[in-house]
Amino acid sequence: MNLIDKVAVVTGASNGIGREIAIMLAKQGASVIINYRSSAEKAEEIKAELLSKNLRAEIFQADVASFSEAQSLIDYAVEKFGRIDILVNNAGVTSDNLIMRMTEEDFDRVVAVNLKGTWNCSKHAARYMMKQRQGKIINISSVVGLVGNPGQSNYAASKSGVIGFSKSLAKELAKRNVAVNVVAPGFIKTDMTGQLAEDWIKEIENNIPLGRLGEPADVAKVVTFLCSDLADYITGQVINVDGGLVI
Ligand code: NAP
Repeated sequence: MNLIDKVAVVTGASNGIGREIAIMLAKQGASVIINYRSSAEKAEEIKAELLSKNLRAEIFQADVASFSEAQSLIDYAVEKFGRIDILVNNAGVTSDNLIMRMTEEDFDRVVAVNLKGTWNCSKHAARYMMKQRQGKIINISSVVGLVGNPGQSNYAASKSGVIGFSKSLAKELAKRNVAVNVVAPGFIKTDMTGQLAEDWIKEIENNIPLGRLGEPADVAKVVTFLCSDLADYITGQVINVDGGLVI
């Protein structure tokens, strides 16, 4: 999965799945922009780790929910490395509650980051990718966007939205040789799932055919494949990385 000479932006790369994706893309030779919103120290650590291995990485602070900050992020990648070949829209948040207790702010913020943030970054990146006649956009959804989950009506709406958006964009950009695909993780061991109670985790594991929660690397490997030339004839697809949870 040779990514030498490719330039990649990974949103929400200071932690969890995004961190693993950024590291894996850099190890395959890509120059990587590590985007973060608040965890500057963690982003700096990842950059330092990659630079120490003679890999190429920069960090950039931006809230992807902001149209102008998303534009600055994408423009920075092009300014720094001359082009943008890969965009991984990974930044995501949850704010769970049953609908009777969920506030309007809970809904708006989750949709703003997860869905509008994906649209913002894709719109700005597409401008460059269409001119280059080359690009790969990978959007991180969730199996919750496919099957729903009580207490996550805002999150499920945002992640279903990412799938509809990605399929439409795949159709729009295919003529310019820009592929758009979705990866839908199941339960992956990160801070996002770190608050779940031990007995609840056991219950989840019992429902996963492969018998375990996923690791960030399980997701990163599939994303890296989709970013590579090996996936040149794949667009508009949703790939579940969930140990078989929603078979
Ligand atoms: P995580 O450990 O909580 O990390 C979230 C990342 O997103 C952090 O780097 C955070 O950066 C960044 N972020 C949050 N809001 C942002 C914003 N407005 N602008 C830019 N960056 C922002 O989450 P994760 O578990 O790795 O999840 C990564 C993605 O996978 C998300 O889209 C999530 O919905 C999806 N997913 C996760 C699971 C799972 O089981 N973990 C399952 C399905 C889907 P700062 O800390 O710097 O703010």
